[in-house]
Amino acid sequence: MLIVMKFGGTSVGSAERIAHAAQLAVDTAAQGHQVIVVTSAMSKVTDTLITAARLASSGEWDPARREELFDRHQAVADALLGGDAARRGAVVEVLGQRLDRFEKLCFGLSMVHELTPRLMDAISGTGETLSAPLLSAAIATKGRPSQAIDATELIVTNDQFGGAEPLMDETRVKAGARLKPVIERGEIPVVTGFISATADGVMTTLGRGGSDYSAAILGAVLDAHEVWIWTDVDGVMTANPSEVPEARTLADISYSEASELAYYGAKVLHYKTILPAFRQRIPVRILNSFNPSHPGTRVSVEGNPSARGVKAVTSIRGVILIAISGTGMQGIPGIVAKTFDVVAEQQANVLMISQASSENNICFVLSAAEAPRVVNALRVALEFELSRGHIEEIAAEQQVAIVAAVGDRMRGMPGVAATVFGALGSEGINVIAISQGSSERNISLVVTEREAAGAVRALHRAFQLEKPA
Ligand code: ASP
Ligand code: MG
Repeated sequence: MLIVMKFGGTSVGSAERIAHAAQLAVDTAAQGHQVIVVTSAMSKVTDTLITAARLASSGEWDPARREELFDRHQAVADALLGGDAARRGAVVEVLGQRLDRFEKLCFGLSMVHELTPRLMDAISGTGETLSAPLLSAAIATKGRPSQAIDATELIVTNDQFGGAEPLMDETRVKAGARLKPVIERGEIPVVTGFISATADGVMTTLGRGGSDYSAAILGAVLDAHEVWIWTDVDGVMTANPSEVPEARTLADISYSEASELAYYGAKVLHYKTILPAFRQRIPVRILNSFNPSHPGTRVSVEGNPSARGVKAVTSIRGVILIAISGTGMQGIPGIVAKTFDVVAEQQANVLMISQASSENNICFVLSAAEAPRVVNALRVALEFELSRGHIEEIAAEQQVAIVAAVGDRMRGMPGVAATVFGALGSEGINVIAISQGSSERNISLVVTEREAAGAVRALHRAFQLEKPA
């Protein structure tokens, strides 16, 4: 079986973690699998690079930044490869070259003071080019031949710098030609996550947190059996354990459940990330590198649907409900269109919409950061309707949260909504707005931020999510 495994920043955050990641890759290969490793930068490195780029563009380039990064990575090379002078020397030389390039880019930036998205990608992707040679060398010292490969040689994207989109056909050809001979020889390639290149070879990045996406793209184009995402949690949980102590890890979820949960604030895979895997029906496994014997969560087409309907409960905080209301709105066309034109002009992201069938009220939820400018713009755009009294009020409710119950099996299952409202009612929690998508994979509710944790707990209990399915 071909397995693409990705290690996140904390899973390669120190010499010890890198040695451990290397062991996981080697052990999997020893079980007879072909393994392709994708790695993130060591924890915090990408942030450091981005900060350095920003400072440089305002004229403040400090060469100490290069030294700090060099020292941290060199210390890892010493710890991992100290006993092998030749291998250590080769890796340290590569680290130096990559950081020389970083330094030159920042120095140039401090002269021209213009940080373009293209230049930001060239700088922010440096971290993966440092971690990959370290992890690859760690694998090799454990007796498995390995090579570090820059994903600029594999993943072809458009030129949307800062969040490039892969061109899958081109990537299939390039990645296949480069990686297949390597894995067929029994070597473990260690590929830089996050980075990619245009067809002309200009470096791009896939967006923050993009290493998961790199792994899914490579899994898809190489027809991998599974994609494993090694992270620092056991998997996707029935709720946030800091809010619901009895929350459990879900053994199986579907791609659509994963995307609903990601949308509603659970810290799982980003929707975009699973898309390439989903299209090819390749299961994605979320595993904990700090607790590798835990089976984690498997994301697949079927996802082992739960007879209870609801599988997980999640919440989004820091959001504002905007309500446009007035009895005069009934039957007047265009108010909804005008409203959402304004939202689009303001480039705000609508998290939830609900309209009562009486048409006396439209409400929608935005992040607290976006809400004030949208409300101001709405008051201007709907001035006529306000002055005529078609709209009585444009109100922004402070401090609300969206609580969402998610599960594929809710579809067509009567009684789920009754259980939801019964549970909240018996806790005395007031529901401000409700929405159920026609996909019937989630019911989402707006409650005050103060009551959000209680609402999540009440729903978790009502669907007995603490008990294994
Ligand atoms: N290193 C990149 C970031 O921090 C990509 C990743 O970790 O997935 O955003
Ligand atoms: Mg990361």
